[in-house]
Amino acid sequence: KTRVYKFGNKTADGNSKMKNLLGGKGANLAEMSLIGIPVPPGFTITTEVCTEYNLLGQEAVVNMILPEVEQSVANIETIMDAKFGDAENPLLVSVRSGARVSMPGMMDTVLNLGLNDEVVLGLAKRTNNERFAWDSYRRFIQMYGDVVLGMKPESKDDIDPFEEIMEALKHKRNIQLDTEFTIQDLKDLVYDFKEAVKKRTGHDFPTNPWDQLWGAVIAVFNSWNSDRAIYYRKMHGYPSDWGTAVNVQAMVYGNMGDNSGTGVCFTRDAGTGEDVFNGEYLINAQGEDVVAGTRTPQQITKLGSLRWAELAKVEEEDRAKNYPSLEELMPSIYKELNDYQQKLEDHYKDMQDMEFTIQDGKLWMLQTRNGKRTGAAMVKIAMDMLKQGLIDEKQALLRIEPNKLDELLHPVFDPKALKRAHVIAQGLPASPGAATGQIVFFADEADKYKYTILTRIETSPEDLEGMNVARGILTARGGMTSHAAVVARGMGKCCVSGAGALKINYKTRTLTVDGKEYHEGDWISLNGSTGNIIEGKVATSEPELSGEFAELMKLSDKYATMQVRTNADTPKDAKIARTFGAQGIGLTRTEHMFFEVDRIKAMREMILADTVKGRKHALEQLLPMQREDFEGIFEAMQGLPVTVRLLDPPLHEFVPHQLIQQKELAEDMHISLEAVKSKISELEEFNPMLGHRGCRLGNTYPEITEMQARAIIEAALNLKAKGIVAKPEIMVPLIGTIQEFEMQEGIIRSTAEKVFEEYGDTIEYLVGTMIEIPRAALTADLIAEKAEFFSFGTNDLTQMTFGYSRDDAGKFLPIYIEKGILKVDPFEVLDQEGVGQLVKMGTEKGRSTKPNLKVGICGEHGGEPSSVEFCYNTGMNYVSCSPYRVPIARIASAQAAI
Ligand code: ADP
Ligand code: MG
Ligand code: MG
Repeated sequence: KTRVYKFGNKTADGNSKMKNLLGGKGANLAEMSLIGIPVPPGFTITTEVCTEYNLLGQEAVVNMILPEVEQSVANIETIMDAKFGDAENPLLVSVRSGARVSMPGMMDTVLNLGLNDEVVLGLAKRTNNERFAWDSYRRFIQMYGDVVLGMKPESKDDIDPFEEIMEALKHKRNIQLDTEFTIQDLKDLVYDFKEAVKKRTGHDFPTNPWDQLWGAVIAVFNSWNSDRAIYYRKMHGYPSDWGTAVNVQAMVYGNMGDNSGTGVCFTRDAGTGEDVFNGEYLINAQGEDVVAGTRTPQQITKLGSLRWAELAKVEEEDRAKNYPSLEELMPSIYKELNDYQQKLEDHYKDMQDMEFTIQDGKLWMLQTRNGKRTGAAMVKIAMDMLKQGLIDEKQALLRIEPNKLDELLHPVFDPKALKRAHVIAQGLPASPGAATGQIVFFADEADKYKYTILTRIETSPEDLEGMNVARGILTARGGMTSHAAVVARGMGKCCVSGAGALKINYKTRTLTVDGKEYHEGDWISLNGSTGNIIEGKVATSEPELSGEFAELMKLSDKYATMQVRTNADTPKDAKIARTFGAQGIGLTRTEHMFFEVDRIKAMREMILADTVKGRKHALEQLLPMQREDFEGIFEAMQGLPVTVRLLDPPLHEFVPHQLIQQKELAEDMHISLEAVKSKISELEEFNPMLGHRGCRLGNTYPEITEMQARAIIEAALNLKAKGIVAKPEIMVPLIGTIQEFEMQEGIIRSTAEKVFEEYGDTIEYLVGTMIEIPRAALTADLIAEKAEFFSFGTNDLTQMTFGYSRDDAGKFLPIYIEKGILKVDPFEVLDQEGVGQLVKMGTEKGRSTKPNLKVGICGEHGGEPSSVEFCYNTGMNYVSCSPYRVPIARIASAQAAI
């Protein structure tokens, strides 16, 4: 078994396909070497060795790889014509960590390894550059001390022990910059640094280069099990046996003087996706100096430099003299770098993020990887590369991370404004987007100011209108599937939920965070994509759905076979979803239509009525309103199928809980307050989610189903008269037995017949059911004898399969995820292992009775990419999701089919 892979001099033992074994950095260094790009020679110790180290310990592992490492060091020596540890002609190396995915928490890089008091003299003599040699030594002790010997600040507010020494010397010498140190200063620093190490660790700084090398290699392995790395792995579900690779590589020096330098560059713009080469560099600098921000980095291209100067308000004369681009300053190096970036992008066929160093007029490449990018850049780059013939249509589609499209669909904060923002607390990123507004605490006051943030402990269906009016929604309680979160996502409205640090006092109308009080009318801002809550106003900009976005969507239709519908309760939502390409409505929640002011009265009257006659009277008032709603939705969907779900929530959600409202209701209905109160307490349930709701309502109060069926059929017939086709699919919620369905179906069909007779005309319609109770999935073959379609309600199905109450899960789910009992929130990502079995079984059993049974999903999962793929594999006809997730589901559907 090979444990050490060499690279350099246009050859390599590994290649870019070996990321699991060599880590991302090592695999790409090998690949660059293979395609003839100059990388300093070196070698990669595999990730497997890291795992072996964790099992066998240091001694065993060092013995095991010693021969290979010695041989690989010798190989570098041959190529570089220098010797590791030699005082005359020394070779120095860097030691770099590199897991298969880039990971914060891993060991930082150690540069200039191999120096000691003798070698530094040789380096100075050989390069004829004493200053450079001592600067490198100073940097080496600092880095090695920090990452290998643990010379960290002693406490959170302490400064770095080496920085402290440098600051003291700068103060004494009355200078500002590192570059102002004299050679003697650098020598003094080296001495003081070593003293500090001895004092703190009790040991001398290691002088033997081989001891230094093993020390650094082992430190990389140990960093794999640092707290931060473990935490990060858990968060992303990466297994601990992946391990990290170690890259050891000959040093090239960007700090050798004005003919040297170092930089970072990108083949395209990572923010916008624009196809322009760009990046930054610094002359006479090493390693991370460019990112460290102590000196102003300069632009690589002249174009970039001009753009930068405009933003930074730098005069042209000043720019050309003090901040010239690499293109202007070193034209031939620039040309070579430009060739490499082109070559690398052509080779990897993706946007590259690269590191390079110029040593005394010679260019070396030190790293390349697929660059991180914004959602907008992701779309533009994929479509541009398709047009440029770099990738084909399928590859272009597979380049899209569906969830990142979210960024494109909601208003966004201006990135510059965001940098200055003061974050006061963090909640869950419940619904993406950006919102700035004045705090209001009550839904009915959401229109008190022009832009408001509805700030609640939690929201309830009664708050719907206010939520719609507000710019953003903030809650102190509730998870990603809390009422506020689900409704906000449906509206495409920015929402941060479950921000536990918020203390909301409705009485005093104050919000307290960390001891600071905010009042009604104060401005705050929400970042629904990160969950950040920000003090004051932050400027936003509307998203632009660029030409490339539309092209991408069209392309997805070419490959997707499973359709995407939307969950929409209003004509407005339906229209938005259609512009995003929804192919029908998979769920209209009729109860949402009852919350408007004049309707809720009729609804409450219906609920409080004690007799069938009383209920019918109230329902007659509701009928025309519902019919009008359906007409609007059917018309918006222009002949596409519309699934309408009959009334689902427990009735008590509709009755008023405040005394004033109860009094009003009593007056309106000419009954006593006592009567209202007693009815309300009668409706109270211990466990409303498992109580009197769903088809249990329609089966106990058939007149409700009758009214709703009539409204649907009449609406369709009215449109037919106007020449508009409507395709209603009437859906019975929450059935567990075929008998429950049969009873509802009977009412619907006989009502339809009646209406057809009255109109002297007919339309086509379907009657189907939701499968959201485990028993329904288990008996799906029986249910399919009657039901004409199935729609999996995976919110309730998840709730009932896990036995987790959706409304209470916020208390323990975060802890479960933190402790690793659950990997993800099952209300967000469909649990394929458990709940998925019921979905599969339900589909198979249903189709065993009715082979062409139409099957879809309408839970929140319908817009989550991995769940969409699962639905495709299950053989569903469609997924249905909130309007703003339609494009995401369309891409996920196309990807599943590729
Ligand atoms: P990270 O993963 O944090 O980017 P790297 O291993 O890429 O860490 O190294 C950090 C910095 O050190 C980079 O700027 C890189 O270019 C530089 N560097 C690493 N190895 C060498 C080397 N052999 N010669 C010169 N610079 C190097
Ligand atoms: Mg790097
Ligand atoms: Mg349900």
